[in-house]
Amino acid sequence: MPHLLISGGSRGIGKACVKLFSGNGYKVSSFSRTGVPDDAIDGVSYFACDVRDPDSATRTVQEAVEMNGPVDVLISNAGIAQSGLAQDMKYEDYRNIMDTNFGGLFNLSGAVIPLMVRQGSGVILAVSSMWGQTGASCEALYSASKGAVDSYIKALAKELGPSGIRVNAVSPGVVNTDMMSGYDDDAKQVLCGDTPLGRLGTPEEIAEALFFLQSDKASFITGQIIGVNGGYLI
Ligand code: NDP
Repeated sequence: MPHLLISGGSRGIGKACVKLFSGNGYKVSSFSRTGVPDDAIDGVSYFACDVRDPDSATRTVQEAVEMNGPVDVLISNAGIAQSGLAQDMKYEDYRNIMDTNFGGLFNLSGAVIPLMVRQGSGVILAVSSMWGQTGASCEALYSASKGAVDSYIKALAKELGPSGIRVNAVSPGVVNTDMMSGYDDDAKQVLCGDTPLGRLGTPEEIAEALFFLQSDKASFITGQIIGVNGGYLI
């Protein structure tokens, strides 16, 4: 059974991935700060891990490998968003957003890459955001953190391709999860209006794209930032 290691598997897009992969016979190790969620899925290994912290990430990857074996697929998905004017953001906000959204990818991939290189195989995926490609007003730090994710993914793909490791990102549009809880219905209607398909995405639609990218059907795809955004960004 292949082993998926995913961050942020307790809610939203990550939870949809956990369901999809475990339903397809994968061993799943899910990392989040809260560890085991109230609605835990049978057979899934939940670990308490703060991806901002390199020691926590390295230690928890080791525990997951001891429990579920070599990592075949890493999905760096955990992320946070914070809206506000760029001029109002504090240094602490900068650290928190960068350390979670980009640092999480850096810390988890740093722990997993040596194992995948030894195996001579593996897939690394990140959940980025279309704002990383185009920038969002009042989400400047968030946009920058996702831009860093996109560049890192492309660079890793070049570095790790010769070792048999594929590296890609999915770049969602607006997806209906807890992350959108700060938006009222009117704001969501505006976002739907800006989306050619006329609606928000679902976590399951993002999970399906990630599942495809890790599969052998995507065996010649690496270094790509795949938009799953209902046409919001074309
Ligand atoms: P949610 O807020 O629903 O879930 C976020 C997940 O990340 C939770 O499981 C949370 O668990 C985990 N998490 C947050 N911080 C940390 C941390 N420091 N260490 C470990 N785990 C952490 O968000 P979404 O599902 O919407 O977002 C998932 C990804 O998709 C993010 O990277 C986000 O930027 C991206 N995305 C989302 C979009 C959307 O519209 N929803 C659009 C574009 C991209 P816990 O709180 O227990 O730690």
